[in-house]
Amino acid sequence: MDILRSGTWSSALPGACTLCRRLCHDVFCADCAADLPHLPPQGCPRCALPTLDGGLCGGCIADPPAFDAALAALRYGMAAARLITAAKYAGRWPLWHALATLLAQRLPAAPDVDVIVPVPLHAGRLRERGYNQAGEIANVLARRTRLPVRHDLIGRVRDTGHQSDLSLAERRRNLRGAFAADTAVAGLRIAIVDDVMTSGLTADTVARILKRAGARRVEAWVVARTL
Ligand SMILES: [Zn+2]
Ligand SMILES: [Zn+2]
Repeated sequence: MDILRSGTWSSALPGACTLCRRLCHDVFCADCAADLPHLPPQGCPRCALPTLDGGLCGGCIADPPAFDAALAALRYGMAAARLITAAKYAGRWPLWHALATLLAQRLPAAPDVDVIVPVPLHAGRLRERGYNQAGEIANVLARRTRLPVRHDLIGRVRDTGHQSDLSLAERRRNLRGAFAADTAVAGLRIAIVDDVMTSGLTADTVARILKRAGARRVEAWVVARTL
């Protein structure tokens, strides 16, 4: 697990690149930074899947998600998974900062958003890990956009366990009733923030609950997205 011990952010002392372990002054060396699996600039405005002309993807035409728009920086593959695992389990703020900055660079100058809401962790999971990675990312985006971060608008009222072992239908069942939104979301344009979007089901569920509570618009902002 030596990738967990690597690197310092813009430090005067050399650390090691999180991905290749070469000595460098940053979270990634210049070569690895150039090789990051950036998503192409053109993508489906609704779900952030790459599309040829930047138009809606087939999935969003046939069955649009509950969120109105999505932004993602990286393709979630091996490289992004290594970075996110390293960041998550070592609680590495510099790495979250670097990953969130990649996402921040994709945000429009004036997002159509009033508040940033990190996807909450269940209290048990929060105690286990000590922090919510979505909150770390949200803080970086908030500084860039000067939008407020709100942790009180949606809560995780039930732990959903490890979703990755479940089928899509099981995940859907599992997520139902996991979140509760505050009525203060009424009329707000909200960006929900998370580290990874895989099936999009969590973002879809959270967006649905926020809208049911009166949110006017919901966007999903994630560092990495499965294609
Ligand atoms: Zn490197
Ligand atoms: Zn789409």
